[in-house]
Amino acid sequence: MQSVDIVVIGGGIVGLATAYQLGKREPALRVGVVEKEAAVAQHQSGRNSGVLHSGIYYKPGSLKAENCREGRRAMIDFCAAEGLPHSICGKVIVATRDSEVIALEHLYDRALANGVDARVIDAVELADLEPHAAGLRAIHLPEAGVADFRAVCERLVERIREQGSLVVTRAEVLGITSRRDRMVVHTRQGDFEGRDVANCAGLYSDRVAAMTGERPEARIVPFRGEYFALRESASHLVRHLIYPVPDPRFPFLGVHFTRLVDGKVECGPNAVAALGREAYGKVEVTPRDLFESITYRGFLRFAARHARVGAGEVWRSMNKGAFVSALQRLVPQVGSQDLIPARAGIRAQAMLPDGTLVDDFLISETRLAMHVLNAPSPAATSAFNIGRTLAERIEERLADC
Ligand SMILES: Cc1cc2nc3c(=O)[nH]c(=O)nc-3n(C[C@H](O)[C@H](O)[C@H](O)COP(=O)(O)OP(=O)(O)OC[C@H]3O[C@@H](n4cnc5c(N)ncnc54)[C@H](O)[C@@H]3O)c2cc1C
Repeated sequence: MQSVDIVVIGGGIVGLATAYQLGKREPALRVGVVEKEAAVAQHQSGRNSGVLHSGIYYKPGSLKAENCREGRRAMIDFCAAEGLPHSICGKVIVATRDSEVIALEHLYDRALANGVDARVIDAVELADLEPHAAGLRAIHLPEAGVADFRAVCERLVERIREQGSLVVTRAEVLGITSRRDRMVVHTRQGDFEGRDVANCAGLYSDRVAAMTGERPEARIVPFRGEYFALRESASHLVRHLIYPVPDPRFPFLGVHFTRLVDGKVECGPNAVAALGREAYGKVEVTPRDLFESITYRGFLRFAARHARVGAGEVWRSMNKGAFVSALQRLVPQVGSQDLIPARAGIRAQAMLPDGTLVDDFLISETRLAMHVLNAPSPAATSAFNIGRTLAERIEERLADC
């Protein structure tokens, strides 16, 4: 039995940032991070677009808006202090049809409400910033950038261990029990006992919550996002970050171009209902997860409501030409021959029984644990702030005991 102050479940960027922030409290709290994989950042935190979001998209006053603004700053400071690759290269959101211009203006209003540095630019200015992008009008966000979130996670492991805390891999959590005022987390690497637990298990956060007797109203429904990489011969078509105007009905941002910190350009991700929480292959299925999704009232309602959009996403997933067409709206010169299949990621998206996708970050707490039940994009950008919030709350909970 390992005894620590707090057990953090999940070695993704949210769990690691939380452990790091707990280790910085006065007096420092000793943490045990338990991660089921052989290494950290194997799921969402290591399979994303690597974009440092500026915070334009989110409802003013929401947890996403607040955590993104402050978390982005903290992420940049951490990367700078640690010498980790990152770049504040700026991004453009491009309206390519008349019908998108109004939505672009609404987005600009949101930028102002969120205090985000943004400017509406015309096609001429767009051509200066991104010579190969097509657009009627665009928003330029000079504060957006890119980082390597996997490298951030790996560095966090080093710093957490220096703080005297533990990061234990291959330690899948199998159950959680309480013994008097202590919680015992049972893992494949033995038991970890702490005064509190933070559940940061991403795609499995609802199932881990259920181990404490909690029945979250929202359930995780996995959405796969596939990427292509631009061949080197075509990478000059994109300078930095080129995004479409998002469909306001969904929390996904639409396929976009991202020049990563290593100079390679990725295109994607689409958003297709995945056939398993960690089923990264197109035809990979995890029967239990699939069964859970298709028998979940919320998912059935969502699927019925958005059948057309869903079918379009599946079509784009199966048909490279359809994926290319979506990209060509932003950069007309991109052709199918320029794209090589790249990795996929799966979003842990919480969905309510009425079929609504939970838009904001969702953190719940019970006497036994804190649960991060919805931490999709921009949670990587925001991780240090989410971690600080959790650390402060955990400290208050310990003081109340
Ligand atoms: C395709 C895609 C693109 C994205 N793009 C961006 C972006 O550009 N910018 C941005 O800010 N955000 C982006 N995001 C969102 C961002 O990646 C996530 O919000 C963030 O990584 C969530 O981190 P996490 O720690 O909550 O989850 P995860 O990284 O999924 O970590 C959860 C961890 O818990 C572990 N775990 C699960 N169950 C157990 C168990 N029973 N026992 C022990 N361990 C367990 C898992 O193995 C995993 O390592 C993107 C996400 C995706 C999928």
